[in-house]
Amino acid sequence: VGKPKTKKNVSQQDDTAAKADASSKDRPLYASVDLGGTNIAAALATKEGEIVAQDSRPTKSHKGPEAVIRRMGELVNDLAKTVEAKPRALGVGVPGLIDLKSGTTKFLPNLPTHWRDVPVAELLSAKVGCPVYLLNDVRMATLGEMTFGHGKSCRSMVFFALGTGVGGGVVIDGTLRLGPYGAAGELGHMNILPDGPACGCGSCGCLETLCSGPAIAAEGVRLMLSGQAGQLYDITNGEPSQVSPKTMAQAAELGDAAVAGVIERAARYLGIGAANIISAVHPELIVVGGGVAAMGERLLQPLRDEIHKRVRMFPVDDLRVERSLLKDQAGTLGGIALAMQGGELTS
Ligand SMILES: [Zn+2]
Repeated sequence: VGKPKTKKNVSQQDDTAAKADASSKDRPLYASVDLGGTNIAAALATKEGEIVAQDSRPTKSHKGPEAVIRRMGELVNDLAKTVEAKPRALGVGVPGLIDLKSGTTKFLPNLPTHWRDVPVAELLSAKVGCPVYLLNDVRMATLGEMTFGHGKSCRSMVFFALGTGVGGGVVIDGTLRLGPYGAAGELGHMNILPDGPACGCGSCGCLETLCSGPAIAAEGVRLMLSGQAGQLYDITNGEPSQVSPKTMAQAAELGDAAVAGVIERAARYLGIGAANIISAVHPELIVVGGGVAAMGERLLQPLRDEIHKRVRMFPVDDLRVERSLLKDQAGTLGGIALAMQGGELTS
């Protein structure tokens, strides 16, 4: 209380708040929250993308939107206390559709109640005391990679996130393309095989049905159970639930040719999708993120080969194809970028 207050407008704040204000003035911090079905992950970072505090908690989504929003607010406020600085703004990645302008969720398919018309930005802003901006989680990862990852020096980039599903994002001339529902960039639902497997979106033969983690693993299980993947059998003790892109990449490395073939085929399907979007927007960079990207060059090299085979109308020798530099921090740093940019999507 006895400390001199340097800012004119802090006279009604207590000592702690004044101290935090001074410290955040020295080094502006921004906050990021990733709302997942299982966990809420939050971070505080500088404008250079240096994470200074990070933590996560269970979402407990069954308790409903208001309780989850309260938990998000508590997590950010607890992180702010640990570094004695309040964030200037907060970017929140959500798994679904949103209204960008109002910061309202429209449809989160994997969360109970689906969060229709929940004013998340408004409710959360009141709890954390700074502006809050929402974005779809995969578009957020795209923004992270664009701002702090491989996309730093690029103006145009396409991001594929290969996980349980396949998502993505498209950056054109420095701007993340969103469309009216923030849904532009749903690259997992480009059609690759006209009569391919049924997709969760209602169509069939989408990229997601061919190169998501579960799609690749399902083929691995089939090979293992039909006696065509001895190494995979040894690695997983013959347990189908242990078959994953990661254990499959190990088996391929140890000599399971059929498993290597499955990975290569998934990469080629991804290459067809990539070639289509390259023909449409000719980006400088293709980035592959998500858990499946952990297969590394085993995935990336056939992907590059397929792109070269399929894009014939212009040279693509300068086009880079890389694994996400930020890996599982892409979404987190995307939230920081969105907060820094005050909700604007042009870098
Ligand atoms: Zn689909």
